[in-house]
Amino acid sequence: MAQVQRMSRLMVKTLRDDPADAETLNHKLLVRAGYVRRNAAGIWTWLPLGKKVLDNISRVVREEMDAIGAQEVLLPALLPKEPYEASARWEEYGDLLFRLKDRKGAEYLLGPTHEEIFTLIVKDQVASYKDLPVMLYQIQTKYRDEARPRAGVLRGREFQMKDSYSFDITDEGLAESYRLHREAYQKIFARLGLDYRIVSAVSGAMGGSASEEFLAPAPAGEDTFVDCPACDYAANTEAVTFKLTPVSEEHGPVEELATPDTPTIETLAEHLGVPASATLKNLLVKVDGEIVAVGVPGDREVDLGKLGEHLAPAVVELVTAEDFEGREDLVRGYVGPQGLEKVRYIADPRVAPGTAWITGANKADTHAKNVVAGRDFEVDDYLDVVVVEEGDPCPKCGTGLKLDRAIEIGHIFQLGRKYADTFGLDVLGQHGKPVRVTMGSYGIGVSRAVAALAEQSADDQGLCWPKEIAPADVHVVAAGKALQTELALDVSEKLGAAGVRVLVDDRAGVSPGVKFTDAELIGVPKILVAGRRSAEGVLELKDRRTGEREELTVEEAIARLT
Ligand code: ATP
Ligand code: MG
Ligand code: MG
Ligand code: MG
Repeated sequence: MAQVQRMSRLMVKTLRDDPADAETLNHKLLVRAGYVRRNAAGIWTWLPLGKKVLDNISRVVREEMDAIGAQEVLLPALLPKEPYEASARWEEYGDLLFRLKDRKGAEYLLGPTHEEIFTLIVKDQVASYKDLPVMLYQIQTKYRDEARPRAGVLRGREFQMKDSYSFDITDEGLAESYRLHREAYQKIFARLGLDYRIVSAVSGAMGGSASEEFLAPAPAGEDTFVDCPACDYAANTEAVTFKLTPVSEEHGPVEELATPDTPTIETLAEHLGVPASATLKNLLVKVDGEIVAVGVPGDREVDLGKLGEHLAPAVVELVTAEDFEGREDLVRGYVGPQGLEKVRYIADPRVAPGTAWITGANKADTHAKNVVAGRDFEVDDYLDVVVVEEGDPCPKCGTGLKLDRAIEIGHIFQLGRKYADTFGLDVLGQHGKPVRVTMGSYGIGVSRAVAALAEQSADDQGLCWPKEIAPADVHVVAAGKALQTELALDVSEKLGAAGVRVLVDDRAGVSPGVKFTDAELIGVPKILVAGRRSAEGVLELKDRRTGEREELTVEEAIARLT
């Protein structure tokens, strides 16, 4: 017996007009169709219809996470500051963190993501290699004080995320946990009916080595990705772009240095307008299309040693491998008030074009990570952002790349031992010695997926949900008076009894025209109308997506819909 929801008793108020502040399709439609309501910037209420869609997405996610053996838990969102201080993210996250104090003055945060806390829980709960691998997940409310919370539920300051974490003792084990998640994500997004691509990404604030994103192409998306029409190469431009970050006022602007010659410390220094002995920060050097050095290593391995072949000692001094030994803070930071403490991301060494590029960043409180112009900062604040352009050669096969906008719906990371090192997460190994654990972390934007689905599947009439996600299987419309209402309720009861989820528009005093418009707007995949031929017991079944219609008796309609 599935639920029969009467519209006459449903708290839903549809709107004819787009909300004044809405810029994106999902924002307009989800508000107009009565799924969500905005409380404050980036803070949303899920109304009954919206809650159903959100729950349907959570159910799919939960089923697929359970299927790979991940265990569901629920961690607090209100977290003590100390673990995030230990990982340096209390600092690194900057303004993105919601921070608060309790009555005794102790500091807390509202969790933006939970690597620290999961690491501590596993440290507490797991003692031996025999208890690994372990995969844990939660579907939980996350908090990020986003600079520009717009686009409806696509970018909330409070939002729902499924986050999971894997714990293994070997690199092969981590690769396997990562593979399991990747496959589970493919199943999840296929079931959600989302068109998506898997692209190379940067690990950013998470740290770690490998990471991929699941991107749902849509004009409202806030990410840009490149896609090769000839081979399987696809990457977020964050991962193929040289992000130019601000330079300090005293040093003046730094431009792209295109030189046929191998740069020397002198040419670099001259170009940067600094003495040859200066400590250069966030430096990236490419020679003959190959990155030979970065001021701090990026997410990928780069041959720092090669720098010595090209550059004089002053720079080498800054960037030799030893300089980074044990200096995790340098490797994973970005440029903060103290200078080079926080550079997180430089570039993907696979980027092919160009000769030599240099970026410099000495400005306080700036960072080079996830820098998307207009989203993360005002363009004027920064120098310039060199992006990959449409038609640039694919780093793998040389074919001209395609450029598209997309919504980041999922992100998977091989974290490695970063958090395990921070918190001393060891288990007793096979030979009685402690072994350091290696981790992965994996996120899905559950509430964002609602926005992505709305963006991808809506049409001129309104929302149009895939079956598994829709708030009901069929929207029954009583288009007339008592006779039509009686037939609509009768068929609804029978459908409900047969396990079909029904939304029935039994509202009195609402014209058929308004009911039809609302049904299209709300976007349930099938619309069943009790109208003109109700006296004969004949209904009209309409497919919301294709618009195809057919006349059916009650029995035929039930047979068709079950
Ligand atoms: P973005 O680049 O859009 O800011 P992110 O890379 O910061 O996202 P992650 O830290 O990778 O996000 O978090 C995992 C997932 O959580 C993302 O892939 C996305 O689907 C979702 N997500 C992140 N931030 C938000 C937000 N502000 N509102 C809704 N969903 C979000
Ligand atoms: Mg991102
Ligand atoms: Mg973000
Ligand atoms: Mg991400």
